[in-house]
Amino acid sequence: MALIVQKYGGTSVGSPERIKNVARRIAHWRARGDQVVVVVSAMAGETNRLIALAKEVQANPDPRELDVVLSTGEQVTIALLSMALAEQGVPARSYTGAQVRILTDSAHTRARILAIDEQNLRRDLDAGSVVVVAGFQGVDEAGNITTLGRGGSDTTGVALAAALKAQECQIYTDVDGVYTADPRIVPEARRLKTVTFEEMLELASLGSKVLQIRSVEFAGKYRVRLRVLSSFEDEGEGTLITFEEDENMEQPVIAGIASNRDEAKITILGVPDRPGIAYQILGPIGDANIDVDMIVQNVGHDGLTDFSFTVNRNDYAKALEILEPVRVHIKARDILSGDKIAKVSMVGVGMRSHAGIASTAFRALAEEGINIQMISTSEIKVSVVIDEKYTELAVRVLHKVFNLDQAPA
Ligand code: ADP
Ligand code: ASP
Ligand code: MG
Repeated sequence: MALIVQKYGGTSVGSPERIKNVARRIAHWRARGDQVVVVVSAMAGETNRLIALAKEVQANPDPRELDVVLSTGEQVTIALLSMALAEQGVPARSYTGAQVRILTDSAHTRARILAIDEQNLRRDLDAGSVVVVAGFQGVDEAGNITTLGRGGSDTTGVALAAALKAQECQIYTDVDGVYTADPRIVPEARRLKTVTFEEMLELASLGSKVLQIRSVEFAGKYRVRLRVLSSFEDEGEGTLITFEEDENMEQPVIAGIASNRDEAKITILGVPDRPGIAYQILGPIGDANIDVDMIVQNVGHDGLTDFSFTVNRNDYAKALEILEPVRVHIKARDILSGDKIAKVSMVGVGMRSHAGIASTAFRALAEEGINIQMISTSEIKVSVVIDEKYTELAVRVLHKVFNLDQAPA
């Protein structure tokens, strides 16, 4: 008898019909003799609706209270799914994050899971019930309800699979796996049979929202067997996240293209080129708990240089506020900034052993007249910052130039 954890996303539980469909699928797995723990998201659109509702009442919602509001979305689906399972003749019990005791830190709206008490769940499983757990939520040491950040139900699923030592964590969503690019942007994108853990980590952090990055981190830390599949198809192996590179059938140079529009760019012009200047600029940004992503400093000329970096758009206004007095203090000329940018990235472990990826990408973008504003590379990725309005075009162009629509030979 195997224990599996299945997570169903918002679209998959978006209506009573779909919830019944999920119940039928679970009944099927259980009929095979497996023990099943199910994690569900709020019904499609519900979390957005709750955020908007909170903002109507308080422009900048109190994080503790916002988490209380947000956690209701998942609380509804766990009960509805348990009812649908009962209708299928499958005994099921629902649990909120606090009822399980998914212990998190106290960082409201972006809490991290610290520990999971799986005793109640085990008891129910041993008694033959399906356990249905609310995704995206937990409780801190003091008993406050917390949420795990957008897309956090993926992380609940993987964390439960780790705690219960499940055979596999299956993430059921509205696509049948991880693709070479977001299939909504590139219709020719291809499903990957496998993707390495490192690649998935990069893809998730660079904007492929099919898995929340923390869920991938958890899978890596606890070696959870993680698979992405469609909740709308009966067959299909989806995409398996692998840990050993030789487990991979396909070894393409580039596994996929990701994009995001979450960042904003800030450039300080005419900065005196002397030791300590990067620290003087980024120190106060770090002190304000603002994460910096890309950083570019030009070669100095005539004792001056330009210094650019990107931050999350949510932190953009605050970063500018912090920087103006810094600019005056270090006697820099001006600050240029903008949040109409996008970051487009190519990811693949094969890049380690292949030269020329970046230049091929830059040529392809140039041929479309897309200007590159910033570049950053690591061993297994190349990212460019471009004008937001070219995001989709850039993703398609890069997908094409690397022939990602064709299976590797
Ligand atoms: P769920 O509600 O099930 O958690 P999400 O909307 O969070 O689903 O994630 C699934 C979506 O992720 C897909 O509909 C797809 O548009 C998007 N996506 C982005 N990049 C990729 C990719 N590389 N492969 C598959 N899906 C992707
Ligand atoms: N309902 C939450 C969200 O929309 C969590 C999730 O779906 O994973 O972000
Ligand atoms: Mg999601």
